[in-house]
Amino acid sequence: MTGTRSGAKRRFIGVDMGGTKILAAVVGADGKILGSAKKRTKAESGPANVIARIGQAIHQAARDAGISVSEVTAVGVGAPGPLNPHTGVVFHAPNLPGWENVPLGQRLADELDLPVFVENDVNLGTLGELVLGAGRGTQDMVGIFIGTGIGGGIIIDGKLRSGTRHSAGEVGHMVVAAGGPYCGCGRQGCLEAVASRRAIERDLRAGVASGRENLVNDLDRVDPGQLTSKVLARACRVGCPLTRQVIGRAQWYLGLHAASIVNLLDPQMLVYGGGLVEAMGEALLTPIRTVAQQHLIHQTSTPVQIVAASLGDSSVVLGAAVIAQRHWATASGS
Ligand SMILES: [Zn+2]
Repeated sequence: MTGTRSGAKRRFIGVDMGGTKILAAVVGADGKILGSAKKRTKAESGPANVIARIGQAIHQAARDAGISVSEVTAVGVGAPGPLNPHTGVVFHAPNLPGWENVPLGQRLADELDLPVFVENDVNLGTLGELVLGAGRGTQDMVGIFIGTGIGGGIIIDGKLRSGTRHSAGEVGHMVVAAGGPYCGCGRQGCLEAVASRRAIERDLRAGVASGRENLVNDLDRVDPGQLTSKVLARACRVGCPLTRQVIGRAQWYLGLHAASIVNLLDPQMLVYGGGLVEAMGEALLTPIRTVAQQHLIHQTSTPVQIVAASLGDSSVVLGAAVIAQRHWATASGS
């Protein structure tokens, strides 16, 4: 964050509102986390209760930082799903029952008596990495977060690309395998359908069912959807042929996808985050880099940087604090 003279002592609160937990952090103008809190979302209790719980998490984070909420300058919230960052209305939030056209920004602002800014959570994760993480010093960057699904964000000239309909950055639903497996979005062959953790688990289970030997000993014991990135990383490390083949195929598609992004936007950097990247690091990224390089139209001596995210679980709360600070700076003319 860029602390201006007048804003150097200011504090912002960033919130990551997820389907299962709410994270809140008090962040200084220098980007340091001064206090934090974690609360269960209890999504089944409905929007009004979830918003109240976000308010409680914010108060708790402020207490942890030794300040009161009235000493905070502005709040940023990362929410899942499509939303309007100008009005703070969440159009729809997957995994959160009842979240249809909820004026999250306004309700929280009324409750806290503070300016509140809302943005898509993966966009904020990307912004956090740009300003405080792996992308520091970069102006053009794309974030790709591989988890159960695949999400992302686009930064152009240092700013988030929101899009005409506030839906830019859906990197997980770029089609990379025409006629391929069905995606959660109902279409076929999206990157998410061939390279997310859910897709990798599906292909592993299919391999096991067809009698392939596998060294993921935990596979039979874990419930569907519960196979962790750590287990996958370990199976690759010990040389399980099935896991290596399945992840190798995902890496091939990720490499093609990376090349398409670079051919379209020519960014300085692609930042990869999420559990699988954290667990495998360079072992995951190196083949992606190789395949991407082979499919770039312009081969130059300064190839795009393909790197791992560095902020882990804090990327969204930090990005949310950054957006709060940026909006405040614009509004106050600082
Ligand atoms: Zn899709």
